[in-house]
Amino acid sequence: MALLRFFHGTMGSGKSTQALQIHHNLSRRGQVGLLFTQLDRAGGVVSSRLGVRAEAIQVRPEMDLEQFVLDDMAVNGRRIDFVVCDEAQFYDAGQIEQLARLVDVHGVDIWAFGLLTSFQGVLFPGTARLLELADERQELQVEARCWCGARATHNARLVDGVQVYEGDLKVLGDTVTPQTEVQERLELAGPEVTYELLCRRHWTLGQAAAPAHDAAPDVAASPSPSPDPAGDPR
Ligand SMILES: [Zn+2]
Repeated sequence: MALLRFFHGTMGSGKSTQALQIHHNLSRRGQVGLLFTQLDRAGGVVSSRLGVRAEAIQVRPEMDLEQFVLDDMAVNGRRIDFVVCDEAQFYDAGQIEQLARLVDVHGVDIWAFGLLTSFQGVLFPGTARLLELADERQELQVEARCWCGARATHNARLVDGVQVYEGDLKVLGDTVTPQTEVQERLELAGPEVTYELLCRRHWTLGQAAAPAHDAAPDVAASPSPSPDPAGDPR
């Protein structure tokens, strides 16, 4: 029986690597599958930080994923057994429902990978729908650590080194523009946007790096006089 599976983890938890591995393993068993992504680092391919990559179909906001897979079957005269979905947090809620219909109506296995929460600290819309609909949910356990040593659970967005809590979910915004062009434009004109994995405490405080030893304590930013790596349950 086909299933809708959702694997979630922080940045750097190996989601793309796992997505590529699943795609590879199932293909080797003779199954036919598609690889979906959105706004991947390299655009048009799924690539992992370990250097593995594969051709992928870019999911656009207006795309009907159920129809896309059915059209592929009709045009290519083949059955699609499974679809691996990388960066699934960026799909919209309707597209997650289309994936669920592929499972229920057409017997296609779905393997979705994505982030749980955004840099704003809330569930991505696609992720929320996946959590609501998935047959199986699993956290990818990678012991990512905040600079303080606590388990890193939150993604912080830094603009020119300063943590921000507001802004577009997708920093590249226009998903229709080829990503290479967008990147070139950003490199020419935009501020530098980076991401940092933090524990909840330092994500909340906006402390993306260890304070310098000689710096005066920032009373406004830190209500706690002695930062405790273990964290207290406030
Ligand atoms: Zn921390």
